[in-house]
Amino acid sequence: MSIDQWEAVIGLEIHVQLKTESKIFSGSSTAYGADPNRQASALDLGMPGTLPVLNGEAVRMAVAFGLAIGAQIAPSCVFARKNYFYPDLPKGYQISQYEDPIVAGGSLDIVTDSGARSIRVTRAHLEEDAGKSIHDLFRGHSAIDLNRAGTPLLEVVSEPDMHTPAEAVAYMKAMHTLVRSLDICDGNLQEGSFRCDANVSVRPKGSSKLGTRAEIKNMNSFRFVERAIDHEIHRQVHRLESGQEVVQETRLYDSDKNETRSMRSKEEAEDYRYFPDPDLLPVTVDEVLIDEIRVQMPELPQARRARYENELKLGAEEALQLTDDPELVAYFEATLEAGGKLPPKRVANWILGELQGALNRADLAMEASPVSPTQLADLLGRVEDGTLSGKLGKQVFEALFAGEGEVDAIIEARGLRQISDSSAIEAVIDEVIASSPDQVAQYRGGEAKVFNYFVGQVMKATRGQANPGQVQKTLKEKLDG
Ligand code: ADP
Ligand code: MG
Repeated sequence: MSIDQWEAVIGLEIHVQLKTESKIFSGSSTAYGADPNRQASALDLGMPGTLPVLNGEAVRMAVAFGLAIGAQIAPSCVFARKNYFYPDLPKGYQISQYEDPIVAGGSLDIVTDSGARSIRVTRAHLEEDAGKSIHDLFRGHSAIDLNRAGTPLLEVVSEPDMHTPAEAVAYMKAMHTLVRSLDICDGNLQEGSFRCDANVSVRPKGSSKLGTRAEIKNMNSFRFVERAIDHEIHRQVHRLESGQEVVQETRLYDSDKNETRSMRSKEEAEDYRYFPDPDLLPVTVDEVLIDEIRVQMPELPQARRARYENELKLGAEEALQLTDDPELVAYFEATLEAGGKLPPKRVANWILGELQGALNRADLAMEASPVSPTQLADLLGRVEDGTLSGKLGKQVFEALFAGEGEVDAIIEARGLRQISDSSAIEAVIDEVIASSPDQVAQYRGGEAKVFNYFVGQVMKATRGQANPGQVQKTLKEKLDG
């Protein structure tokens, strides 16, 4: 058999770190980057006698997520203890949800080169994160940092609905966009706020029986997820074709070597001795709370994309690019608002083209843009009212980006005002025509291309400031007439 006679089956477990101020069961701050163990209370340290208190904000965020994917919200759910020992888990158990997740069902739509698909979500449950073991700080000793212990996570488990690495990444990206749009996660992949375990198996095409899966743990980059899954599919196919079995196990992806390595054999749920945590009351989510959250829901990425296409008349690709990133959405909407009647398509083009290009070259994030939405709106207003041509607008944009001041001041200081005065343009054109008798003869003899020569001469004489539309029109009249 060859690789294309196999079908891969992929299910993802995504850990979304919720953007609460304090931890899920203690009052410690969740801010990233503090000195080790500065954000670890007695509870986070697992001290005897401490009791957890549930952070209501984490519950509200989970409910918002559930509503956004069209899931069932459990009217009542319990927290369970998942028992295992690890130095960065001082209590000896993780508080999670097992039989009763807060969110069940729902789905997320993805688009790949092979079309649009809906990926089903099995469940999403609340849990606490563990601390961190640091093995390279002291020689011969491991260090434990419990700042992260107790940080709220929403673990979102998908059905095994994906079949290619590209689909898995599209799902992960759609999830990333969604949780940032809902403002329940900062989405910072480097800091581990959004991580993914990929379950991968293969089966002969046409078969409906699931193969044995391997789980690749803890990846925090879209590119690595794609590569790790791709690698894992090949590894499994290779094993099966050479008569070996796929072992159910947990594997780690090594991005340097682009390979996955066995970490441990897969533990079963029974191993964890789950039981309801006696320290916590069942969580009840009533209709009143659900309605309250529903009314406060922001516009979701898919609805926004449809609105951008249908109402603002953006192209499909522009709408997709903008709605993919909540920062871009905020910038775009702020520019439209500041600009009053600017054509949305022009605004979108400038943001996705000039602005993003300049930000990329300067290695700046959207939030750090030196050009504010109001400034961009002012600039586009000057293009719209004819003060600037598109080309001059780009020069003003560069000056704005370089911090040279406000739009009108830049136009004055640099003398960039577009010349739209028809008598001034006519005078220049007359001069150009008078001094180019050969070209005039060529043009009138049928060489239409020579027209561009005249346009070039006029623009040169006006230092690029003549209104290009007017130049074209007047030149045509004079040369053809
Ligand atoms: P666990 O918590 O032990 O990892 P789950 O049954 O909750 O197990 O499954 C975890 C993930 O693995 C889910 O996303 C699910 O869709 C996926 N999955 C289950 N079976 C397979 C399989 N045979 N191949 C690929 N993915 C699978
Ligand atoms: Mg798992």
